[in-house]
Amino acid sequence: MYNKENLAHHRPDDALSRYETLYIGGEWVKPLDGGMMDSIDPATGKPWAKVAYGGKKDIDRAVSAARAAFEGPWGKMPAWERAALLRRLADLYQQHAPELAVLETRDSGRALRESRNDVGAHHNWYQWYASLCDKQNGRTIPMDDSVHAYTSRLPVGVVGAIMPWNAPLLGACWKLGPALAAGCTIVLKPAEQTPVTTLELAKLVEAAGFPPGVVNVVPGYGQDGAGERLVEHPDVDKISFTGEGDTARTILKSGADTLKRFSFELGGKAPHIIFDDADLEQALNAATNSAWTLCGQSCALGSRVLVERSVYDRVVEAFKHRASKVRVGLPLNAATHMGPQSSSEQLAKTLSYIDIGRNEGAELITGGQRLQRDELSGGYFVEPTVFANANNGMRIAQEEIFGPVATIIPFEGEDEAVAIANDTSYGLTAGLWSRDLGRAHRVAARIRAGTVWVNTYRYIRWTTPYGGFGASGWGRENGVEGLDSYLETRTTVISTTGQFPDAYAD
Ligand code: NAD
Repeated sequence: MYNKENLAHHRPDDALSRYETLYIGGEWVKPLDGGMMDSIDPATGKPWAKVAYGGKKDIDRAVSAARAAFEGPWGKMPAWERAALLRRLADLYQQHAPELAVLETRDSGRALRESRNDVGAHHNWYQWYASLCDKQNGRTIPMDDSVHAYTSRLPVGVVGAIMPWNAPLLGACWKLGPALAAGCTIVLKPAEQTPVTTLELAKLVEAAGFPPGVVNVVPGYGQDGAGERLVEHPDVDKISFTGEGDTARTILKSGADTLKRFSFELGGKAPHIIFDDADLEQALNAATNSAWTLCGQSCALGSRVLVERSVYDRVVEAFKHRASKVRVGLPLNAATHMGPQSSSEQLAKTLSYIDIGRNEGAELITGGQRLQRDELSGGYFVEPTVFANANNGMRIAQEEIFGPVATIIPFEGEDEAVAIANDTSYGLTAGLWSRDLGRAHRVAARIRAGTVWVNTYRYIRWTTPYGGFGASGWGRENGVEGLDSYLETRTTVISTTGQFPDAYAD
């Protein structure tokens, strides 16, 4: 677990943290056919941790352990006892959230003030899903007098969870909470860029006293590595994936032979609509925050800011002013608003989209540069960036950049706002600002997205389902609906007479 020295990571003599084992079947084991990889500190561009990663054989033994737990102690455990274990995990998580937040910042580069808020809330997922463990009721179904029918909800089995790098611990609680509440067992594969905190989470799982094999953590690579093996594995019943659309397409193909279940949480290109009757100060608070939070690396962000023509210039000016107030800096510094991008690849991607935007003719009104001053020189820092006078056909308005880049697009009236909002292959989230209640309902009802926020933004809780239309994914996480993809429904039909006619009697 974290210790004070971790905070001193910018000292040149800083020793690397070491995580030499995987968590499989309740034991900490060395990889069979994996190895050791570096986890890079995005604030310095240098390794800060050496981490064991698993290969295909490691996934095979993790899946065997998960299967044994599913068929054995976990599968036989009364649901309220599962709930008690999840509650214990929630308590431990809450207790250790401050240290986890520091490690999340070191591994992903997210500003500590954001990590503290985020990680400080995760125990709620475990608590809330604990409360659903013993409430998976089926239905009795009206039939004729000769039969009685009812449904039961059963865990889908062994789950492979494949995670992205932007908010590793948030992604983990979104999957672990409902999977365990449903009665599944799980093999978690964190992203290769950010493996550390999921291993720390495994320590809490162990301390909470879950039976061996219920939760397994195997860091590793995707294509040709642990991720691919999880997808192809015939004994994995379901893959819960969060990441890019192209990766999801590859996963669907490589998992097709096994016909396992899939749920996908993919990207977004959310419209954030500001009507001229909005409370502009509040709308700007939300729109600027949702452009730059997590250094732009969240699927939920309102990266397309749609602004009614009559207030367009005011909004653009305000964006420019507010960008100048964002403190970009070392993420462990408590005063920092925005840390670096999480990887050199993501930095390169963001900078390339900034070039694309310029070449497409959008007006770069602020930002657009990598920041390399003094202590930021080795890290992946980029300025908060705003394009104005863009149109929705541009690539910067259609493609997910995943960097701190807002694209502000003008519109006239509700119909055009809705048309632009829905002109996207994605459909994850959307926001709208208006003081007119009727308009708020009208427009919200016409937007094709899994979540629409009205006069607020990125208000995400364990209680509310989250997921996408279209290219943003399949299925929902969070809320009661978050359990659905971890459950199968069995229908039982029982004759009340015991009579079955002989079809071949005459
Ligand atoms: P990614 O698709 O590159 O990688 C995600 C995971 O997939 C990693 O663990 C990787 O190792 C694994 N992987 C890669 N190739 C694989 C393969 N062939 N088989 C099995 N596993 C494989 O995504 P990323 O760059 O880590 O994450 C960013 C993306 O995630 C963005 O598009 C973002 O919008 C999306 N995201 C969505 C949500 C949501 O809830 N909708 C949340 C967070 C991130």
